[in-house]
Amino acid sequence: MATTSRRRLIRVNDLSDAALAELFARARAFETGEALPGGRLQGRFVVNLFYENSTRTRVSFEVAAKRLGAEVVNVTPAGTSVAKGESLVDTVRTIEANGPDVIVFRHQDSGAPEVIERETKAAVINAGDGSRGHPTQALLDAMTLQSTLQRERLDGLMVAMVGDVIHSRVARSNMDLLPRLGARVRLVGPSCFVADGFRDLGFEVAHDLEEGLRGCDVVMMLRVQLERHQGVSFGSTREYHRRYGLTKERLDRCAPQAWVMHPGPTNRGVEMTDEVMDDPRCLVRSQVEHGMFVRMAALDMLVSGGAA
Ligand code: ASP
Repeated sequence: MATTSRRRLIRVNDLSDAALAELFARARAFETGEALPGGRLQGRFVVNLFYENSTRTRVSFEVAAKRLGAEVVNVTPAGTSVAKGESLVDTVRTIEANGPDVIVFRHQDSGAPEVIERETKAAVINAGDGSRGHPTQALLDAMTLQSTLQRERLDGLMVAMVGDVIHSRVARSNMDLLPRLGARVRLVGPSCFVADGFRDLGFEVAHDLEEGLRGCDVVMMLRVQLERHQGVSFGSTREYHRRYGLTKERLDRCAPQAWVMHPGPTNRGVEMTDEVMDDPRCLVRSQVEHGMFVRMAALDMLVSGGAA
């Protein structure tokens, strides 16, 4: 799957263009029932090593692995020796001694992937490392757009990513992936969350929501990553919502129509209102549904290689 010999999905750019196309094709085949999941990972052993909280990603990796027939063990700090102070290195060595085929990990430290890769021979999948990357989220976001718009390429699409871009691993991975699929990306938020320097990397930048939403086809809302703020002051959540919260009125002004996405968890009333969450233009549920197929495809490709 990877462009290197290592079986890894740490960053979106570990996927060559051919591997990316194969992953989407495989995910679609699982979705339509063209490819049958049963038994493909029979006898394989997947470890979900999650140092940070997760609902969607952990559940979806677990269901995906089980649908493919793998055995799954979930390891979280509470209830293991991590809570007794065991280091990441020693924890991975312990897991490695049990012979995993895949380690899916989430860690608050952006350097965790390198440590984990060094200590295991298993294939590794990044389910979120600090603010650096969350590749399967970007892949499921893209698949959601592909299936909503009924096309594989996203050429001409303007995606406005609104919120805490600087601290968001979801934004990072989407900034890697969306341009590869032909979409344009505009980053919208206060300057403490959206640096003007992003322009030098080829992204549009807007600090005003009205301006940021103008002409966009997709609004991708990002959660304010309070847990990653060190000395960042963005004011109160009420003030943030007043300036950057997505309301139905603001969404209605996107002409002719914009789809709404959010990786979850959503803070209703902060990033967007209940009304927007429940609006038919909101793709949050579809994102979760596509997550499982994307993760099935990623696990399948990493473990069994070959065509679907
Ligand atoms: N669930 C996503 C993540 O783990 C988004 C978020 O937490 O805001 O990065």
